[in-house]
Amino acid sequence: MLVGGGHSHVQVMKMFAMKGPIDVKVTMIADSSTAFYSGMLPGCVAGLYEPSEIQMELRPLAEWAGARFIHAQVTGIDPDQKKVFVDGRPPISYDVVSINVGSTTRGTEDIPGVKEYALTTRPINRLLDKLQDFERNHPVWKKPPRIIVAGAGPAGIELSFGLFHRFSKKAGSAEVTLIDSYKDLLPKSSKMVRRVIVSTLKEKGIRMISDTRAERVEQGRVHLSSKEAIDFDLLIWATGGAAPGLTEQTGLKTDEEGFLKVKTNLQTPDYPDVFAAGDCIHLEGHDLPKAGVYAVRQGPVLARNLINYVMGRPLEAYDPQPDFLALLMTGDGEAIASRNGVGLKGKWLWRLKDRIDRKWMARFDPDQLGMDPQSPLRLPGERLEEEMRCSGCAAKVGASVLEDSLCSLEVTPNKRVKIGLDFADDAAVTEIPAGKLVVQTVDYFRAFIDDPYILGRVITIHSASDIFAMGAQPDTAMVIATLPFTTPQRQGRELGQLMAGINFEAHKMNVTIIGGHTSEGAEMSVGLVVNGLVDESRLARKGGLEPGDLLVLTKPLGSAVLMAANMRLKAKGEWIDEAIENMLISNGPAADVFSRNNVRSMTDITGFGLAGHLAEMLKASEVGAKINLNNLQFLNGAAECLEAGIQSSLAPDNRKRVRNLGLTDYSDLTANIIFDPQTSGGLLAGVNPNVARKVVEELKEAGCERTTIIGQVTEKAGELILTRKP
Ligand SMILES: Cc1cc2nc3c(=O)[nH]c(=O)nc-3n(C[C@H](O)[C@H](O)[C@H](O)COP(=O)(O)OP(=O)(O)OC[C@H]3O[C@@H](n4cnc5c(N)ncnc54)[C@H](O)[C@@H]3O)c2cc1C
Repeated sequence: MLVGGGHSHVQVMKMFAMKGPIDVKVTMIADSSTAFYSGMLPGCVAGLYEPSEIQMELRPLAEWAGARFIHAQVTGIDPDQKKVFVDGRPPISYDVVSINVGSTTRGTEDIPGVKEYALTTRPINRLLDKLQDFERNHPVWKKPPRIIVAGAGPAGIELSFGLFHRFSKKAGSAEVTLIDSYKDLLPKSSKMVRRVIVSTLKEKGIRMISDTRAERVEQGRVHLSSKEAIDFDLLIWATGGAAPGLTEQTGLKTDEEGFLKVKTNLQTPDYPDVFAAGDCIHLEGHDLPKAGVYAVRQGPVLARNLINYVMGRPLEAYDPQPDFLALLMTGDGEAIASRNGVGLKGKWLWRLKDRIDRKWMARFDPDQLGMDPQSPLRLPGERLEEEMRCSGCAAKVGASVLEDSLCSLEVTPNKRVKIGLDFADDAAVTEIPAGKLVVQTVDYFRAFIDDPYILGRVITIHSASDIFAMGAQPDTAMVIATLPFTTPQRQGRELGQLMAGINFEAHKMNVTIIGGHTSEGAEMSVGLVVNGLVDESRLARKGGLEPGDLLVLTKPLGSAVLMAANMRLKAKGEWIDEAIENMLISNGPAADVFSRNNVRSMTDITGFGLAGHLAEMLKASEVGAKINLNNLQFLNGAAECLEAGIQSSLAPDNRKRVRNLGLTDYSDLTANIIFDPQTSGGLLAGVNPNVARKVVEELKEAGCERTTIIGQVTEKAGELILTRKP
């Protein structure tokens, strides 16, 4: 279990995929699906790199490595119970854990006003976002912006150069002030290095205030220990690394500042199965500065030691180098180098720095990782057992695994359930309320994402969607799950996470899980039977569209093309994050809005894509439709993927089905979005034009923010016209 996606862990993930033991499953949990390479961050601030050039995409890296990636914040670790606590989901068990969560900025918590009015440098992945927010709020500069950088460590100095150049370009010039508590800049550096840096600061007109501390911040003004107060437009807080809050929540030994104590082999002193690296550690016998170069150098040692630990082999020591070549960019195509007390400046040094940094980034570039997503981490060692496993009823998951995973499951109470999980019997028994009809549906799919908790949530929402599309309320559900061949302990963990996800969404929809069936197989698959109840008068159908009705779609499209791109390592992490968030929107609130407004003609968009499901509605209603492609909402990245020729494996079949219906006009690649199969897609409904605007507003208020009117029903049966006309 890799907690945090820092500079050390990206290397661990790669090395495990290439050289790790075959039967190890690596999971990375990180609060962002993109990690920033700190060495290029000031260059990016200076405008020398695009943000995308300094980002390491963790999702494609995990996909390539066959590792599981969980996008979530870790809030604590219990090393006795071997559990990681994760925001918004049940704890996750591990066998071996490694922590690489970086640091926070010193003073953020204890210096008044910093949190509210300054832009802190850590976590580094948020610095650029916050800087861009600042620029959006200040699009025009009548006077040069006044920028203060508090903290003149290497990061503060580079940022001063970077900000000077950024705002010189954007605002004509910039007034940059660098404040530091030390009398001498970088006191551990030689006089020669200091001289080169100070003269470069002077050349650019960057004011230096030394021997002074920033003590209090208010809006637009910073108060100094010298009693001076300086006004600013932008205050960057670059005062060095403080221990991240997580270390306090681990029960692990820390130093007096809160950094995790580790031995020279990067193992924690009390728990041999807990390792840590990077800014968040205090390495036994050393007082290392918080610099990415150490996190980078620790990566291979950490990877080898994790492999050694798993294999029961002796661990090696990490021996930090006493001095290293430090290269500070000056933002104008030059860099300052320092090593062993010598300080030099030049264009060739910038070229050298740029080459070194780009070489590092190339190691994590999805295009250069190769196209084979089937890495050794997909547990082939365990698959060997597959041949010896029984099938038929003997392929059921063991009773003890089931009991362990289900005993803590608190299902939604439901008086009509006479026999359910609480009183296990051969089958479940439920009562049907008088006057209600029972509506039933089943859905089942292969795991499209390697995260059983999220998978459980999505399948539940997806399956209940059919019930909502009928105007009914889901009531009870049964689960069918196939778990990969592995040890009973791992199966128990996987099932526990899967069921927790299913039950979480079931609770939200007031659905009671009443039974299920599990079996073993080559890969994880999961399905749900959902039973709903409805008054006959409120039943909604695919038929019933009237010419003139406006077609309203409640969610953006593109989930399958994005997942296809993810498998090919072509999707950005943030695209997949958004696609998953979109899948986690229940169609329940949208169905309520339609029902309240007497909309009785609707369906949910799933495997056959928008065109396929719309065609079903047109056929059932004996009408046609005109769709304005410009009104379709795309998930982020879906259009780029379609333009790159990527499509889901089901899309060609979806296209064939609809061609027969008389599709007349489509040529551009993004138009193919209508054939994209949707997992947990939105509702499509035909709405009387008199109430359509009001319905759309209500849908947006109900959480379906990207609802749009995509077209109109026409008279000619079976006709489906695509247009881009306004
Ligand atoms: C402006 C700036 C410039 C710098 N330039 C340099 C330089 O040129 N050279 C150099 O050597 N050093 C530089 N540094 C220092 C460098 O950034 C850090 O030393 C380095 O990033 C530490 O690496 P790390 O792997 O420990 O952590 P990080 O790179 O900070 O990575 C930690 C990761 O863990 C994730 N995470 C954090 N908390 C949690 C949680 N609770 N749950 C899940 N995930 C979590 C984060 O999202 C992040 O992905 C610079 C720092 C700054 C601020």
